[in-house]
Amino acid sequence: MDAKTAARERFESAREDLIALSHRIHAHPELGFEEERASAWLCESLADAGFAVEKGICDLPTAFLARAGSGPLHIGICAEYDCLPGIGHACGHNIIAASAAGAALAAAKVADEIGLTVTVIGTPAEEVGNASGKILLLERGAFAGIHAAMMVHPAPFDMVAAKIIAASMFEVHYTGKESHASAFPELGVNAADALTVAQTSIGLLRQHIRSTDRIHGIVTNGGAAPNVVPAHTSARYIIRSETLDQLTELRPKVHRCFQAGALATGATLELRGGDKPYAEMRHDAEMAAFYQRNSEALGRTFPPMGEWETRPTGSTDMGNVSRAVPSIHPMIGINSLPAVNHQPEFTAHCVTEDADRALADGALAMAWTAIDLATNEAARSRLMARA
Ligand SMILES: [Zn+2]
Ligand SMILES: [Zn+2]
Repeated sequence: MDAKTAARERFESAREDLIALSHRIHAHPELGFEEERASAWLCESLADAGFAVEKGICDLPTAFLARAGSGPLHIGICAEYDCLPGIGHACGHNIIAASAAGAALAAAKVADEIGLTVTVIGTPAEEVGNASGKILLLERGAFAGIHAAMMVHPAPFDMVAAKIIAASMFEVHYTGKESHASAFPELGVNAADALTVAQTSIGLLRQHIRSTDRIHGIVTNGGAAPNVVPAHTSARYIIRSETLDQLTELRPKVHRCFQAGALATGATLELRGGDKPYAEMRHDAEMAAFYQRNSEALGRTFPPMGEWETRPTGSTDMGNVSRAVPSIHPMIGINSLPAVNHQPEFTAHCVTEDADRALADGALAMAWTAIDLATNEAARSRLMARA
């Protein structure tokens, strides 16, 4: 039996358990860095399948490594499992987690005979936007010795190399002074006005930024009562650009808008975070080609991308991984349109039959890609030469 058939048989024997795992994670959504149950369930399934599991690596209680095989080529498969506040698994990270486990189980079946080590890297908190799981794990050495990394991410339709851009999340805090809003307004310093000026400035700034830049945010504290001049307001903003270099140009322009709010009102401004941004994704062309062929062999299709060739999608800390090791981050379709990521309707789609099929196809396409990388002499030597 060839390696891909053996891997497929191994996956099929675990298919129902993996679908149950995906549904269980979906039914118990946990926010970034709080994914205690999801990471425990993943570690348990992988340990039961014979993987050597290390939980709570790199001082991150919900991160883990699960390794199988002992070959010289070392492939990492990233599992994400955090949800979004209020709308649960609206990004389908339950599918990412279960497909990563499935890919690793399937590849592990043949790892030793094809000279492969496969490690699932449990990467918490993808949705937080700054200093996220993969960024901290990279800094703390969790990816050391890994020659290539991959994951699949649910989306309305398949895209092997979506345009994934750089991003940075930061918090904005204004401090003014309370006062009676009617009797003594002249004694107050209005921190909510500071935020209003900043938002107006950002609106005007939009004429003078690249069409691929993004600036979006929410007010997290707008004041306590209409008859008290707000002394404390806060917001959370994300800025994005095609590349980290362009993001470096955008950042001071946006910061100046927040400074304008402080200047106009006399409130003081504090900006927190934004120090560990997400990098743009560099898709490894050879790995992407293997993945696409393997997906097509499973019956998936990759129609011409049209506007998506150039239109930015989201951002991910897999971009940071892709700067350290050759990586892919294909989007795997769950046939959800008109529902799209980060909508409650998408949450509902992440446990449908199409979602379960995406889990299975994503797992097998990744396992087969790992097999291709291990057995194709040119690919193998290219990856091994880098370490
Ligand atoms: Zn998301
Ligand atoms: Zn996501």
